[in-house]
Amino acid sequence: MAVAYEIPHTWEEPEALHELLELVREQRSDANLRRIRYAFYVAEEAHSGQARDSGEPYITHPLAVAMILAELKMDDDSIVAALLHDVLEDCSSITPETLRAAFGEDVVLLIEGVTKLRMKSLKDASPRQRASAETHRAAESLRKMLLAMAKDLRVMIIKLADRLHNMRTLDSLSPERRTRIAAETMDIFAPLAARLGIWQMKWQLEDLAFKYLHPKEFQEISDLVAKSRKDREEELRTAIVMLKERLEGKGLRNVEVQGRPKHLYSIFNKIVKHGFEFDQILDLLAMRIIVENDSDCYVALGIVHDLWVPIAGLFYDYIAKPKPNGYRSLHTKVVGPHGDPLEVQIRTREMHQIAEFGVAAHWTYKEGPKGADTSNRFSELRRQLFDWSTDATTSSDFLRSVSTDLFSEQVFVFTPKGDVIDLPKESTPIDFAFRVHTELGLRVVGAKVNGSMVPLSTELQNGDVIELITRSNAHPSLDWLEFVKSAHARSKLRNHFRKRNKGDNASRGRDALERELRSLGLEPKEFLGDDKLMAIAKTTSDCENSTDVLAKVGEGLMSVQSVVSKLRGGSPQQQKATADTIQVSKAKEGRLSLAGTGTDNVMLRRAKCCDPLPGEDVTGYVTRGKGIMIHRKVCPNALNLLLSEPERLVSLDWPPDSSSYSVMLKIITVNRQGLLMDISTILGEAKVNVAAARIRTLPNQTAEIDITVEVHDVQHLNQVMTRIGNFADVISILRMFGRTASK
Ligand code: MN
Repeated sequence: MAVAYEIPHTWEEPEALHELLELVREQRSDANLRRIRYAFYVAEEAHSGQARDSGEPYITHPLAVAMILAELKMDDDSIVAALLHDVLEDCSSITPETLRAAFGEDVVLLIEGVTKLRMKSLKDASPRQRASAETHRAAESLRKMLLAMAKDLRVMIIKLADRLHNMRTLDSLSPERRTRIAAETMDIFAPLAARLGIWQMKWQLEDLAFKYLHPKEFQEISDLVAKSRKDREEELRTAIVMLKERLEGKGLRNVEVQGRPKHLYSIFNKIVKHGFEFDQILDLLAMRIIVENDSDCYVALGIVHDLWVPIAGLFYDYIAKPKPNGYRSLHTKVVGPHGDPLEVQIRTREMHQIAEFGVAAHWTYKEGPKGADTSNRFSELRRQLFDWSTDATTSSDFLRSVSTDLFSEQVFVFTPKGDVIDLPKESTPIDFAFRVHTELGLRVVGAKVNGSMVPLSTELQNGDVIELITRSNAHPSLDWLEFVKSAHARSKLRNHFRKRNKGDNASRGRDALERELRSLGLEPKEFLGDDKLMAIAKTTSDCENSTDVLAKVGEGLMSVQSVVSKLRGGSPQQQKATADTIQVSKAKEGRLSLAGTGTDNVMLRRAKCCDPLPGEDVTGYVTRGKGIMIHRKVCPNALNLLLSEPERLVSLDWPPDSSSYSVMLKIITVNRQGLLMDISTILGEAKVNVAAARIRTLPNQTAEIDITVEVHDVQHLNQVMTRIGNFADVISILRMFGRTASK
């Protein structure tokens, strides 16, 4: 859909905008100047009435930022975004929606990216002495920047241009703010510009920051450089003329030979860091030869070495062997016309563009065939962006320590579409899968890293591109817990295994309910419909669906009887009140008193098959001379007795008293040291005695703990099970039946 870019006729185009448009027009014949002009108009309207600290109209700032980007030969979207980069933050009249309608999604993403990178100001009076807490915060900022950069490198380039203009206009700020911003520029922004290979910006940012951080030294060095340049200007001019004649004499066309000033901050570094005297820094002047193609570079090198004596060991061929950031050039040092060392760089125009503009140059050169995948084009760049291990020269000490912190804890990897995902260090494709989507984690069967199949336990490296292979009927394996690194993946896996156990419990619960219903002469199918169970789930805590209800029954956390009663539409209280339920008034030392029956001192026996507890739905089986055997109503044996000897069963109401009863639990956990101790602590806090415990390590880094505990009643047991189940490393906890008696 075409956008009109309507601007009122009465509006006058400022001269500065005209300059910007001219520059863009010269660079790119296909640039959409109407769109850029309209972006300026919108920004100017939005910022009208706002002023910078210098008193100038605010619009001068975004315009200057756009100009810096145009000088870097950035694309239309970047320039439009630069013009509008402060409107979302500063102007309430503009929303992302209006910008999207006028300029498209890409521009909005760029503007939002830049806005998010705004760093919270550091309050400390002495920003150079940041506390370690500050480093942590900086690491977080750096992380944000890296994520934004990885998504679209242009965000960072716009941000750097923004910072460069702010540094150029720093004079109007208070001395404290000046120092703070200059320090941040030196620590973070200049090194980031270096990482992106944008040397133009790197040295400007450094020299400006240097000026505000060390005003005295800055002045001294610039005076010395100016003086020495005067002294050596003649020498340099002679050298340039001689060289140009020779080069053209050999038939090289379109050759440029330039004197190359050294940057003030790099001289300061040599003096401060390496202890040189200013007089010792002889390579203040250097020369650059720019030629048409690669082979001309070597021809030019031959001519230079023929003209002046090369200094041994100071020749570097970065064309045959480019630097990791893609930098290419020939470097040599020779004895110059007056006997002083002269540094010479030789490169083609394209190499020069990349050397000066770094990443930004990628928007200047039109890439290969139409429709080529742009994400591929940047994948190598991204990899470099996240490869900080090889990077000693392009970082400040501060950034290096921050990034060391950051990269010792995190790893940044990519989806095939180029989205960046940050994960804990040592993460695997499984962590990646769960991070992208839970469903992906549960269905993954294989992974490709950078195009090759790898084991699912492979440790991911910065910049890896990960492609997952899934199958719709696949399931996670318990071994994965052995190597997953992120808490997120771990908890998703644990949930999954819990649910799978729940499936077993649910089918046990369904069996029990079916048996109970049949014993009452009812047809289970009519009562166990999803809708009826769902209705129960709604009124029961921790139950979301019918499976949860069945699982609770199967685990014995909910009584068969109460569920059946609810299914039949009655309430469990009514059931309890029926005449043939006998109240157990006292259970002491293995003896029961049955209230209202005149029966005292009946021998109590807990059935070994189901280990019933007070508070549970139980049934009493009147044995032949051995007292009453208590079963849980869910117990399969009790259900069988209901069919074979219903006359011997009595309904019992067994309330808790002060006695304790042993129950067996099986806990499956992630295996680690101190685990049993942690679980004992939980049990101790819950005032539960441990009668026996056995831990067994399984080969998949999990452990199985069989533990016999003594509890007062079913509620007490449920509390304990919930507490242990909530413990981070526990995968599942089950109440076991029929084994406590064996102890
Ligand atoms: Mn700005």
